[in-house]
Amino acid sequence: MKVSVIGTGYVGLVAGACFADTGNEVSCVDIDPRKIDALKNGKIPIYEPGLEEIVKRTTKEGRLKFTTSAAESVAQAEVVFFAIGTPPLPSGEPNLSYLKSAAEEVARAMRGPIVAVNKSTVPIGTHRQVAEWMRPFTKHAFEVVSNPEFLKEGTAIDDFLRPDRVVIGTKSDAAFKKMEALYAPFVRQGNPIIRMDPVSAEMTKYACNAFLATRISFMNELARLCDRMGGDVDQIRRGMATDVRIGKHFLYAGAGYGGSCFPKDVQALMATGRKEGVEMAIVTAAEDANAVQKRYLFDRISKHFGGESRLKGKKFAVWGLAFKPNTDDMREAPSLTLIEQLVGAGASVTAFDPVAQENAEALLAPYGEAVKFASGAFDALTGADALVLVTEWNEFRNVDFGRVKAALKQPLVFDGRNVYAPEMLRELGFQYYGIGRG
Ligand code: NAD
Repeated sequence: MKVSVIGTGYVGLVAGACFADTGNEVSCVDIDPRKIDALKNGKIPIYEPGLEEIVKRTTKEGRLKFTTSAAESVAQAEVVFFAIGTPPLPSGEPNLSYLKSAAEEVARAMRGPIVAVNKSTVPIGTHRQVAEWMRPFTKHAFEVVSNPEFLKEGTAIDDFLRPDRVVIGTKSDAAFKKMEALYAPFVRQGNPIIRMDPVSAEMTKYACNAFLATRISFMNELARLCDRMGGDVDQIRRGMATDVRIGKHFLYAGAGYGGSCFPKDVQALMATGRKEGVEMAIVTAAEDANAVQKRYLFDRISKHFGGESRLKGKKFAVWGLAFKPNTDDMREAPSLTLIEQLVGAGASVTAFDPVAQENAEALLAPYGEAVKFASGAFDALTGADALVLVTEWNEFRNVDFGRVKAALKQPLVFDGRNVYAPEMLRELGFQYYGIGRG
């Protein structure tokens, strides 16, 4: 099938590469010429395990192409995916202006009937809006389908090639058949392609992210209660996770959720509720709890030192900056909140992230000398008053704590992801603070 993907970011590039991998002819479009130039030269602009190999192979075999010209890409295509960013506006509603201009551009470029697929996460009802944006600019027939994306950064390729399910929202049998054919190679083991109406498909995406965010916030609240009362949230998690009605995923307490999806999608659902006069009390609580949690690590640190005013002149080693491991994505990363608070209190930070450092450097540049970057995890520790782990990259898990102790000014660890064994660290002479471990 001839496929065009508009927007070559985390979702568009993964989708384009995976569709090309199954034999389709895919053309990926982006308005960012640097991104397209890099891709044409075999450079992958994001970090995503396994992506580079597929992009290189399918490009070499001639099935994956990159262009800044939507006209060139769409003219050939039977199916056009929108994988455009929908970042939040100050009101919490997603900014649809990029999607609008892409929809108009696609309509202008059409040379025959197409299936236009919304893969971006968009407010409920946007499929109708996209059709209205397109209609004045084309005489050709088109159908707007909702096909929300559920991939997770860090495991995006695996998620795309082996999805738990594929959701396709359309009332058109012909459009559904095309989508079914495109996705058939990815669901050969029997995972379902679920057909529904477009409104339900759009709402399913928000429902999933808001529900997962709620699970995390629930555990984070319990963690704060544990720190007050002496329980261990990790043991509680294990006690809960073995209940098949609950399951084991997204029950980890930590430094709060971030990323380009959970915060934005929860806020968008809240905004939709406000607009429609439906109280969204549960997701509002999840978001409020997360705002508290993102500041909790700092509260633990300042309490240890006897109050915020005592942090002036202190130096902290921060391990992990990306919003989660295996990505270079810094959007809404809890590390940014923590560093802002530490610097605001007069402390300085030396940070290290194995992959997201370049993106982080750009974002943290306004703090000048107060935030430095190390070339390795141990370099960050030299002379620091404490180690603060924010993102649980694998390489931080089994470190040599003898070396950590020798490098730090004092043996003090704040573990924002509960990856270390508290007993082991205490036996080694560390003072250890986790999240909800008493
Ligand atoms: P991104 O910011 O990484 O990529 C979006 C790309 O769209 C950018 O490269 C941008 O230059 C390009 N773009 C903007 N306007 C354009 C236009 N008119 N024509 C061509 N290109 C244009 O965003 P992303 O993380 O890939 O997310 C895309 C959508 O998918 C969002 O709605 C997001 O909520 C959703 N989503 C993201 C994830 C994720 O993990 N990142 C997962 C599921 C769904």
